[in-house]
Amino acid sequence: MALLQISEPGGKPIQPVRKRAVGIDLGTTNSLVAARCGGSVECLPDDQGECLLSSIVYYRKGKEPLVGSAAKSEMIANPGDTIASVKRLLGKSLSEIKAERQFIPYDFNEGRDDQTPAIRTADGDKDPVIISSDILKCLVRRAEDCMQGALDGAVITVPAYFDDAQRQQTRDAARLAGLKVLRLLNEPTAAAVAYGLDSQDQGNVIVFDLGGGTFDVSLLSLQKGIFEVLATGGDTNLGGDDFDYLLADWIRNSASSEIDYDADASAHTSLLHQANQAKHRLSESPVVEVEHQGQSLQIDNIRFAQLCESLLDRTLLICTRVLRDAGKKIEDIDNIVLVGGATRMPIIRSAVAEFFGKESMTEIDPDKVVALGAGIQADILIGNKPADSFLLLDVNPLSLGIETMGELVEKIIPRNTTIPVIKAQEFTTFKDGQTAMSIHVVQGERELVSDCRSLARFELKGIPPMVAGAAKIRVEFQVDADGLLSVSARELSKGMSAEIVVKPSFGLNADTIEQMLSSSQMNAKNDMKIRALKEAQLEARQLIDATINAIDADSSLLNEPEKKSIAAIIEKLNLAITQDEQIKIHALTEQLNRISGDFAARRMDLHVSEALRGESIEKLEKS
Ligand code: AMP
Repeated sequence: MALLQISEPGGKPIQPVRKRAVGIDLGTTNSLVAARCGGSVECLPDDQGECLLSSIVYYRKGKEPLVGSAAKSEMIANPGDTIASVKRLLGKSLSEIKAERQFIPYDFNEGRDDQTPAIRTADGDKDPVIISSDILKCLVRRAEDCMQGALDGAVITVPAYFDDAQRQQTRDAARLAGLKVLRLLNEPTAAAVAYGLDSQDQGNVIVFDLGGGTFDVSLLSLQKGIFEVLATGGDTNLGGDDFDYLLADWIRNSASSEIDYDADASAHTSLLHQANQAKHRLSESPVVEVEHQGQSLQIDNIRFAQLCESLLDRTLLICTRVLRDAGKKIEDIDNIVLVGGATRMPIIRSAVAEFFGKESMTEIDPDKVVALGAGIQADILIGNKPADSFLLLDVNPLSLGIETMGELVEKIIPRNTTIPVIKAQEFTTFKDGQTAMSIHVVQGERELVSDCRSLARFELKGIPPMVAGAAKIRVEFQVDADGLLSVSARELSKGMSAEIVVKPSFGLNADTIEQMLSSSQMNAKNDMKIRALKEAQLEARQLIDATINAIDADSSLLNEPEKKSIAAIIEKLNLAITQDEQIKIHALTEQLNRISGDFAARRMDLHVSEALRGESIEKLEKS
């Protein structure tokens, strides 16, 4: 699009100022920054001409931290002060970090588990937000040098599976680095943008993203230039590094080394480095030699694929799940986009091609594709390009809902709903005269609250006292484009309202999400049974309460045998409720309903005639 030439009074043309916006791929292993330079969006290099910045930070006492390759070379000499793969620590508690990884060469400050865990370094305690912001600051300096001025905003990419806590800490890191976040963008979505897939008319695209430490698969559907993420799946603990570990094991075992790698951190690091180099060379040639402890070992891609069979299977299993979630078959997939340095491995490319029955798109450097997409999106969001160029839609990974009576979950936004989204549902009070309602926000696929994850609780007060079931409470869930959730509740007659923004301090990782999904599938039948029982118990309890209240108010309308028979049914029903006997609960509820229905009709007659005599409209309403 041509820039408009506007004339000043003196006739000198002025140029509208182009705003400086960048796209940043904050990766587990490497990070990049991209921006529009002249006609196209490009990855910006450092003064050595390198675009990839190793996501490694080395802390020295009282000095500026070193970031990138300078820090990488300190990994062996100063493993405790050189922090790598910090993305894996974002949004997690110390106990979660420890549960996930057996070996971490860092000295964590053992604070409270609900605090952000910090690593003790020579330059003081550094938490994942600070460490990530040091990586971002390095990219910001690079971009400001290249673009000759301060940045106006940035789009930062995150794995599709990042939860609220991880997204929030990414934003915090950006803010700490002095960046204005225009938007957090899912990495696979950014990759599809880089390939310009919005220019196609329609089709289904798989974005297969295997980075250093995380794996994401997304299924995008293209319709008339608009694309939507139909489903996502992934594993935040599966990446190119895991192939290094298996290759390192193979080197260690094949060379029958005497070294105790578990006790010697620097020997462990150099073994991993050697494995990583061998893995890279296997992408160039079918057979490679590895020199280790004076021995010469040989490995080819066939043996490498055998060693890594379980990892390959894990990636394909996740692809199967994503297809299933999106309701698509392999034949429905038109394009496969490979993202992340680890997809250069021939063993990955052939496994993916065999699974989908077609070759993948690989023209754009898989290390740069996400940053380029983010750069394109940043350019649009800052207003340098028409905003209608494309529309991005993402999905939420797990259902969101609230707790209802009986500890049951009412789902308000089902999983894989396109975001941003607003959905509302009406609820009512359970007890007569109830003036407050506790709203418990949960996330997960199961029917019972105890099997889901609690996100937040808040209270709606000031509900005008009414009979049970008369109040109308509108609960609204809003998930913004970054996946952050706000929940509000409003009483419709008086308009009292309360709301909360959900930023859970520590979130879920993809493994936990996968576990939650598979446990919901495994337990689906049983959960439905429990739900049916709980609902029957709830209905019965409500009927018992209402009947007792009615008898208290109008006992004169019942004769003694009737009172006795109602009391007997209530007693039996209470027993059936406590003994979880669903069939009996149903039968007795029906019986009580019949008798109390008759009684209710008599009460109605009485109150109508009272009302007609001008006694009490309120009493009539109540009955
Ligand atoms: P990323 O998080 O996308 O930067 O991922 C980097 C991962 O890609 C690391 O595990 C690298 O070892 C891996 N990688 C980069 N280049 C190659 C290559 N040529 N062959 C195999 N793996 C590679």
